[in-house]
Amino acid sequence: MLSGPFIPRDWMGACETFEEADWVLVGLPYDGTTSFRPGTRFGPEAIRAASWGLETYSPLQDADLSHTSYFDAGELEFPLGNRDAILTMIRENARQVVQADKRWLGLGGEHLVTFPVIEAYVEKYPDLAVLHFDAHADLRDDYLGEKLSHATVLRRVVDLIGPESLVQLGIRSGPQEEFAWMRKHGTLLEKREDLPKALARLQGRPVFLTIDLDVLDPSIMSGTGTPEPGGMGFSEFVAWLMEFRGLNFVGADVVELSPHYDPSGVSTVVAAKVVREVMLLGSSQPHGTQQAAALTSGATA
Ligand code: MN
Ligand code: MN
Repeated sequence: MLSGPFIPRDWMGACETFEEADWVLVGLPYDGTTSFRPGTRFGPEAIRAASWGLETYSPLQDADLSHTSYFDAGELEFPLGNRDAILTMIRENARQVVQADKRWLGLGGEHLVTFPVIEAYVEKYPDLAVLHFDAHADLRDDYLGEKLSHATVLRRVVDLIGPESLVQLGIRSGPQEEFAWMRKHGTLLEKREDLPKALARLQGRPVFLTIDLDVLDPSIMSGTGTPEPGGMGFSEFVAWLMEFRGLNFVGADVVELSPHYDPSGVSTVVAAKVVREVMLLGSSQPHGTQQAAALTSGATA
């Protein structure tokens, strides 16, 4: 036996078994439909490595990861190049997580990886709503003739949940038709005054949170495939996130980190911190009685 200590390569502090976890982290190293700069397949392992530099405590939420439970399943090994087989693999795995009454936490990978997860979620939660942070609307009906692409992913999600179950934030780039569509269907939260309307769409329902990291400004998120100037700073982003505290988050993903475009490593640290805040945000509202009991005993231990 070597004396160590060794740093495991999974997410910092993860518990050892699937059964004992509330959240299940799954790496989704796929970037097959990326239209500009590829490389998000390297996102999940970079986020895990950076997680070891984080504290478990979030002053912002006055909450600590030690009071929630999460299992890091590792990365799905994809037959890269076969998009449809990959989407099927993701859907099957998400289905197992959802049916076991656990919360999926996908680490992208490009944004298309969200779609098969939502397919699995709506089987269990027909009234699912989606909260979407992104620089891009991802609402094209097709992209270069393809219905399944990172540029169409939210449109495919809308096909499943309907436009009235979607709230979008941070969108600042796209064709005029996408903006017209968002305004017509009231999905785009543009000003803080509109927050009550957005919350009304989400409250009392199971909510899936999908965060495309390019919602953040390229000054702190250069490590992404499609950087878009004019985005949120980190403090502004988490302030928005906190507006949704108390919702029933049943799953989430954090996508589009492409670490090789950021030699400083800052983007990866930002991504890891976003993952921590998402897990704590979701855990502020226990989902399911088993998780509630586990949280209570954790808090009093
Ligand atoms: Mn985007
Ligand atoms: Mn996106």
